[in-house]
Order: sequence, then C-alpha cells, then structure tokens
Amino acid sequence: MKKNICIIMAMKSEAEPFLTQLKNFEKVNHNYHESLEIYKGFLEEKTVHVLIAGKSPSFNVDCIGTLPAALSTFIALRDFNPDLIINAGTAGGFSSRGAKIGDVYFVTSTSFHDRRVPLPGFQEYGVHHANINFDNKALIQDLGLKTGHLSTGDSLDMSLEDKKIIEDNQSNLKDMEGAAISWVAQTYKVPIYLLKSVTDIVDSERVTQEEFLENLDMASRNLSEKLVLFIRKLTNF
Ligand code: SAH
Repeated sequence: MKKNICIIMAMKSEAEPFLTQLKNFEKVNHNYHESLEIYKGFLEEKTVHVLIAGKSPSFNVDCIGTLPAALSTFIALRDFNPDLIINAGTAGGFSSRGAKIGDVYFVTSTSFHDRRVPLPGFQEYGVHHANINFDNKALIQDLGLKTGHLSTGDSLDMSLEDKKIIEDNQSNLKDMEGAAISWVAQTYKVPIYLLKSVTDIVDSERVTQEEFLENLDMASRNLSEKLVLFIRKLTNF
C-alpha cells in the first residue's frame, strides 16, 4: 500500500496546528539551506514529512513564493521518495466565485498569472494550466471542501495584467506557491493534491495584508482540521 506523503508548506504559522496532530513527531536534520524546516510524523499508517520553507536568514520573514516552494518540492522528491505530494496553505479567495473567509478548497486545476510571454507557444508555457487528477469526489463532499481553480504568482497584490489572466482562467483562489509545486510534482510524475484555506477576499474593499493577518490563525486551524481528515480517509493515490 502507498503510504508515504510529503506536505509542502510556505509559512510556519500555517503549519503549526497540523504539526501538533502528527504522532511521534520529530524534527529531521538535513544539510540543505538554512531556512528549510523538515518534520516527520505519522497519521495512522501513513508516514508524513512536512517541508516548511522557513524564515529567510537575511530578512527574518517566511520564505513565501514559488522559488522556495519549488526547491522544497524537489528536495521532498529526492530525499523522501513520496507516493504523494500535498501542498497545504492559505490563499486569497474570489467572492464573485463563491469564496468565503475560512473556506477550505480542494484545488482542481492550477495556473500562473505572472509569467506573461506573448510569443508563439510561450504564452501557454507561461500560464501552464495543469489539471489535478483526483476521482474520489465522495471524499471531497464528505469533508465539505469547496473545489476550484488556483492561480499562482509571486506577488501578494494583484496588478491589472495579473487580474486579466486570473479572470481568463476563472480562478477561485490566488496564492504564491501552488502552481509551482504542481509543476515540479507533475514534471516528476508524482501525484499532487492541493488544499487551500481562504485568509482574505481579493475582490473586496479590504486591504489584503490586514485581512490576511486577521484571519491567518483561524484559516490555519481550518486547514489543519481538513488536512488531517483528508489524509486519514485517503485510501488511494
Ligand atoms: N503579510 C504576511 C505575508 C503573507 S504572504 C506576513 O506578514 O506574514 C501570503 C501567503 O499566503 C503566501 O504564502 C500565499 O500563498 C498566501 N496568500 C494568502 N492570501 C493571498 C493572496 N490574496 N494573494 C496571494 N497569496 C496569498
């Protein structure tokens, strides 16, 4: 039975509620870069490694964004031989497409909104629309997860150019890591699922960073609750 799962997360505060749920939880020593934190634990019969991008030694803030996320995913694939990669994290949601603060989504497809290359073929390469293959619809329903498209870029704000691409892809969610993680996992032909908890509503009057900080703890608790159940009930991947 397949039972080896790696979870890729950007921020320690997103990960904390989940880490407390792991049995025989321990920190894994490694010789990779300074910021990367790796934890190992068990959920029933499944072995779980959690890779957190961690704090930048130069700036003392979390290493969010596509670059550290892609690196963590590669390290996970190389070192822990996972049967499945899961990206768990927070995201902005679009209320015009039904998102509410605290909702947890199972992502059904990903793309990028800040890789604009208007040359023949490169446009599609940049946007990189990727479907997530998962046929256990009953599990998604049982857990009360919403489903939708996730658009990824390296900025927390949203330029008009980003907005157009986000709209063209009918995105429900916006984050800074997901599409990069699915890019790496699918390149290495390892299954990838993404669970995202909504911290802020992008199409509202509120300032994103204020709303994000206000809701981060609650959204991370919701994420952990659904992630634990999701992994426990997952029989096949
Ligand atoms: N201001 C925060 C930094 C948050 S960056 C701080 O001071 O700690 C946002 C993180 O949450 C990223 O990892 C990203 O994936 C996710 N995220 C949440 N809301 C987002 C949004 N509206 N747009 C892009 N990413 C978002």
